[in-house]
Amino acid sequence: MAFYREAYMPNPLRTELVAQCRARLPYEACGVIYGLAEGGRIEAAGFSLVRNVSASPETSFRFEADDWIRVWYDMQKNQRNLVGFFHSHPSGSCLPSRADGEGWIGAGSYWIVDLSDGSGQLHAYGRTADRGWYAIPLAGSPPASDG
Ligand SMILES: [Zn+2]
Repeated sequence: MAFYREAYMPNPLRTELVAQCRARLPYEACGVIYGLAEGGRIEAAGFSLVRNVSASPETSFRFEADDWIRVWYDMQKNQRNLVGFFHSHPSGSCLPSRADGEGWIGAGSYWIVDLSDGSGQLHAYGRTADRGWYAIPLAGSPPASDG
């Protein structure tokens, strides 16, 4: 299991992600994040929403199967690498819920868009081998290029 020490999402992308999640209130929005994951660092390059078909979408999410397959093939076709999953928390906590832990697919990083304070706070998590969570610090700037 990869350990991530840092994650980076460019500001315009972050703004777009928050806006898309907010547009789906009062329901949780969910989807995938693609980009690069190298040397313990994630660099998000984009995201795709997947329809939430949870029976209680205000407090949980479940990928709609056909939509998820479509997003998956789109990523393959466009040579995009899946680096994580995201979903929003319309109210409540920025931390992964118990259901989030049980629904964990076991790959990549796990991003939560906390919409409870109106501004939309982004948090990234990874999973430890014993199924705990750790927060992945979000970097404010792209990696320095050593050219
Ligand atoms: Zn959650």
